[in-house]
Amino acid sequence: MSRHSRRHPVEILHDPHRNKGTAFTEAERDALGLRGLLPPRVFTMTEQQVRVMGNFRQKTTDLEKYIFMTALLDRNETLFYRTVIDHIEEMLPIIYTPTVGEACLKYGPIFRRPRGLYVSAQDRGRVRDVLRNWPERKVAVIVVTDGERILGLGDLGAQGMGIPIGKLSLYTACGGIDPIRCLPVMLDVGTNNEQLLRDPLYIGLLRKRLRGVEYDDLVEEFMSATREVFPGALIQLEDFATENALQLLSRYRERACLFNDDIQGTAAVTLAGLLSAGRPAGRQLRDQTIVFFGAGAAATGIAHLITASIAREGTSLEEARRRCWFVDTKGLVVRAREDLQPHKRPYAHDHPFIPDLRGVVEALRPTALIGVSGQSQAFTEAVLRTMGVHHRRPIVFALSNPTSKSECSAEQAYRWTEGRALFASGSPFEAVRFGDDVFVPGQANNAYVFPGIGLGVIAAGARRVTEEMFQAAATALAGVTTEASVTRGTLFPPLRDIRNVSQAIAVEVARVAYRDGLASIPEPPDLVTHIQGSMYEPDYPSYA
Ligand code: NAD
Repeated sequence: MSRHSRRHPVEILHDPHRNKGTAFTEAERDALGLRGLLPPRVFTMTEQQVRVMGNFRQKTTDLEKYIFMTALLDRNETLFYRTVIDHIEEMLPIIYTPTVGEACLKYGPIFRRPRGLYVSAQDRGRVRDVLRNWPERKVAVIVVTDGERILGLGDLGAQGMGIPIGKLSLYTACGGIDPIRCLPVMLDVGTNNEQLLRDPLYIGLLRKRLRGVEYDDLVEEFMSATREVFPGALIQLEDFATENALQLLSRYRERACLFNDDIQGTAAVTLAGLLSAGRPAGRQLRDQTIVFFGAGAAATGIAHLITASIAREGTSLEEARRRCWFVDTKGLVVRAREDLQPHKRPYAHDHPFIPDLRGVVEALRPTALIGVSGQSQAFTEAVLRTMGVHHRRPIVFALSNPTSKSECSAEQAYRWTEGRALFASGSPFEAVRFGDDVFVPGQANNAYVFPGIGLGVIAAGARRVTEEMFQAAATALAGVTTEASVTRGTLFPPLRDIRNVSQAIAVEVARVAYRDGLASIPEPPDLVTHIQGSMYEPDYPSYA
């Protein structure tokens, strides 16, 4: 018998789903034939975590921490998730933004082991076969990107794979989706990033991006192959460039169980932040005047959800849209402009054109300023002081990622409004001392929303992901943010509560699915218990 034809006991040590490392018990070592293949002392998972965290904290850069955690995930998935869940506030900025952005920039040089599925332009006509190569059949969530707009970093081609991997690890850590049911996909259609095309370590196809019909055909083939190979799976579109993001969402949202996190997840988390921020000033959503700095996918998604929410309360959609204003690279988006892309048109109001943000803030006196431009330091002292002149509690969200792209820092937002700003950011900022006060800025992290959406969709077997589900998610998220937290300037619940947050969101999302006839799984008598019980817990199984 050849050495490859029979499974050797050692294989369990090399299978990250089943490996327990030094935590295999005496009985398991005997039963599995592992005696001698491990050092004699048996450790508990808690003891293993001490070792992991010791090593983790010794790493001197965040990228090294990322590499270390990725290696742990490749060795022992259960220990990885237990550690991430138990140290979520420390881990999130490493396994996701901002460090994952740096990891994607350097994905070629730091590449160790393949993870996820690569569907490339060369696979046209055989995408089904590629999907069938994936070893698991029970896939429930697919996160797919084509790598064209990775965070605020632009076209990173196949190196964007770090994003679906990172997002899915949050589905598991924050939303309790079993990792075996998660599939990260890179749709490698090439890259127009010349630097990467010249990089000898670049991992993707060495070609310019597919465009037009060829691109659409590949996506269509991927979508239909997915339906066939992984029927019912939720598909999350991630970090596509604006035009494709908007087009793909409108093409597939009615045909598949699909959403775009950059557009809809961002919208829900931002709406939740606005709902919470409205509380200290006693301001309803319909009473806000919101200026978006940046008019891309995120701005469009947020504005759309806000207006839909206002309209649900009885205001006309036209009137609701007047609460939202866009500023793009040219200036204020107004009706007279003839250079506007279709997605900006609904927010082009009758108003004289104003070329600069400060002028816009002076003229419109917005109650809320939302930065989604990827332009670092765009919220200048003059802009923020003007916000503070007109409102007692101005709302300032600097959502651009990573930290280096943030429109302003937390410290600047508080300093230039004398500590009155209700601030949230896309990437995390440390607490800020201002006079006698300490403000803990909240992070408008999509991680508050998408894992809960996924959990709810899976629990109900929802056939579509609808606008109402995102509204329900935003309301649920604002609902679990306490009054005391908002008073401290923290517009989101602590990340350590994220599994409870996801659960609360999932319950509301599943309720919408049942209410609107979108569920394919019979409604359980107790939805809360059902969802709670369905959440993956990283505990070692017993093999003895
Ligand atoms: P996008 O490329 O679709 O949109 C960016 C927009 O900013 C475009 O409309 C562009 O014209 C505009 N812009 C660029 N430079 C500008 C300037 N100098 N003045 C005015 N407008 C300018 O990208 P997106 O998906 O909308 O994301 C935008 C940013 O938001 C990114 O940095 C991303 O990281 C961040 N984001 C944050 C969150 C979050 O915090 N939860 C979620 C999604 C996106």
